[in-house]
Amino acid sequence: MKILFLDQSGKLGGAELCLLDIAKPYKDSCLVGLFADGSFKELLQQHNIPVQILTTQSIQVRKESTFLQSLGSISSIAPLIAQVARLARDYDVIYTNTQKALIVGALASVLTRRPLVYHLHDILSTDHFSSTNRYLAVTVANRCASLVIANSQATQAAFIAAGGRADMTHVVYNGFDIRNYQQHQLHSEQVCNQLGLAGKFLVGHFSRLSPWKGQHILLAALAQCPENVVAIFVGDALFGEEDYVQQIHQQVTELQLEKRVKFLGFRSDVIPLMNACDLVTHTSIAPEPFGRVIVEAMLCGRPVVAAQAGGAVELVETGKTGWLVPPGEPTQLASVIVSCLNQPEKTAAIAYQGQLAANQRFDLQVIEQQLTQLLNQVNIK
Ligand code: UDP
Repeated sequence: MKILFLDQSGKLGGAELCLLDIAKPYKDSCLVGLFADGSFKELLQQHNIPVQILTTQSIQVRKESTFLQSLGSISSIAPLIAQVARLARDYDVIYTNTQKALIVGALASVLTRRPLVYHLHDILSTDHFSSTNRYLAVTVANRCASLVIANSQATQAAFIAAGGRADMTHVVYNGFDIRNYQQHQLHSEQVCNQLGLAGKFLVGHFSRLSPWKGQHILLAALAQCPENVVAIFVGDALFGEEDYVQQIHQQVTELQLEKRVKFLGFRSDVIPLMNACDLVTHTSIAPEPFGRVIVEAMLCGRPVVAAQAGGAVELVETGKTGWLVPPGEPTQLASVIVSCLNQPEKTAAIAYQGQLAANQRFDLQVIEQQLTQLLNQVNIK
């Protein structure tokens, strides 16, 4: 099957890393069209996946845009739509991976009569989207898409609650090449030494720096933990959240955590870093649509504590395969960190159960089969 994948981002977020894995089996017959240049293009090229930057003009619809602003932007992207429509004639399916890609792909799909797939990686709720953008996404998907793939039940439920058609929506979790996660345990001591954090209880946070990802919650929790608990923050501000970066650095100073916290920026070696952690934390204060970092920590066999909302609730069974704590609640998070520190055997047993569960539920091969089945149905309609 020939697939034209579309994604608006040049940067590497969870949706893009998921698309990378989805596109791999189709690399001889697909094209990934991006609406911005950046590290995502380079990563696709490294994996020999055909990629093309389709526009150099940024599309000015923000998550909080009004209806008129959104409509104005659509008229300004007419050349992009025409280009996508030209390309789409050589493909069987248009597969859109982000909201702006959906809008462009939908219009191209109408022009070329190619079936449209929308892979929904966002919770369409007021936490993340203006009512206009929710309305646009749902209306366009309802009218034009043959298939909506939701990355969790939470994402699916929010789509349906916003008026999305339930009959064409299927939940497919992100898949992971599980072999990649089990090769780095031997080097964790070396990584801790390199970080200058050997002998400490190392807590990891792996997310772009953004208020809703809640790095400030982990900092507040850390201040309530013993001195030998330290943290690494892996990730960068991807979408202009520089104020937040300043805010959390100030928080580090105010809480006198300078010697206990390291910000490592964006890293492409997440797996060895996770393996070096004694505990991985997820602290989003708004519902997480899926939460790749949670599954990745489980696959590494590391204990994980996640914020109890959105897709995270589907990934972790609290007290069995990890822990869930109320979002935005540093004291309960601190209490889980301290109990992991004080009860290493129990913690390791839970991490092991988490790893078994994740290996079983998120194996890329199984997820690929689910996707292929769904895409075949779209293609023969
Ligand atoms: N990630 C990465 N380098 C970093 C920080 C994060 O490669 O420095 C990866 C992380 O391993 C995960 C993804 O980015 O695969 C983030 O996905 P998630 O679903 O957790 O959050 P999203 O970015 O989709 O909001």
